[in-house]
Amino acid sequence: MKNNMVKKFISISMIAVLLLSVFAGCSSPSQSAAEKVEVETQRPIMVQGPMPIEAEKFAQRLENVKEETSGTFVFYIGTLDDYPVIVAKTGKGMENTAAATAVAIERYNPIAIINQGTSGGHDPDLNVFDIVLGERTTNLGSLKTADKDENQGIDPTVWIPMDLMASEGSAGEDPNAEKIRYYEGDKDLLAAANAVIDTYTEGKIVQGTIGSADVWNNEVDRIKWFHTKFGTSVEEMEGAAAAQIAGAYDIAFLGIRVLSNNKTNGGKYNPETATANQEYVYEVVKKYISTMQGE
Ligand code: SAH
Repeated sequence: MKNNMVKKFISISMIAVLLLSVFAGCSSPSQSAAEKVEVETQRPIMVQGPMPIEAEKFAQRLENVKEETSGTFVFYIGTLDDYPVIVAKTGKGMENTAAATAVAIERYNPIAIINQGTSGGHDPDLNVFDIVLGERTTNLGSLKTADKDENQGIDPTVWIPMDLMASEGSAGEDPNAEKIRYYEGDKDLLAAANAVIDTYTEGKIVQGTIGSADVWNNEVDRIKWFHTKFGTSVEEMEGAAAAQIAGAYDIAFLGIRVLSNNKTNGGKYNPETATANQEYVYEVVKKYISTMQGE
């Protein structure tokens, strides 16, 4: 009995000491242990870039960076304005991007995902160095062909969009799946992006539709077909894959794509655009962080 009371007293005193040290940590003016714990428990913002030129510039601007890998995916885990930010170098294409997004969600539980990088223009009014904020993102490879028998040929202009997310049943048989699936850009991320438009001086910034597939379209008539039928402003190879997986986990998503080329108006490929885009996206992330913190 006596022994039990002593044990109880010891454990109560230990809790008191622990609580005191936590409060002491909170009131300390310098970067305290408690603040560090807070950074660790805040959900990070994730910025994805497919190629080294589309991810490494942003990663270099993070502070306190530590690098982790999973397969071929590289995660630069750091801070920006004392808030956790992770840059993911995903590799090119839909499969790499979908897998890197799922791995990152399971590992790091991000609060928001920005997929950014270069793209090819579908809109002749957009020039190399202009940026498209993905009000919507869509998969340009989700298509159903016409029903033709042997020797009846191939006709891509009559292919119809196919929504793989329409139901769990067969997309090939289901008439309800014969529509375009658009993934909406997150309102708060779009607001942050719009709020810092003036920081970008190398081109204009518009809201639009980003189309993705593991295809590089160089046929102007095919590009026009997507522009008219899907409303695409630009094409690239990653956005819709990241948007789909972010959506599956209910995580805020936005695609931000700079035009590195535009076949419809003769805009030649310029890799420098990748750096310009990362500089703009850095401002977007900064703004998003300050908005989250109620400033
Ligand atoms: N021209 C580049 C190749 C880039 S590969 C080179 O030779 O190094 C394609 C990558 O660029 C993808 O990550 C894709 O998202 C982006 N991209 C840029 N313009 C594109 C376009 N017109 N069509 C498809 N992807 C494009």
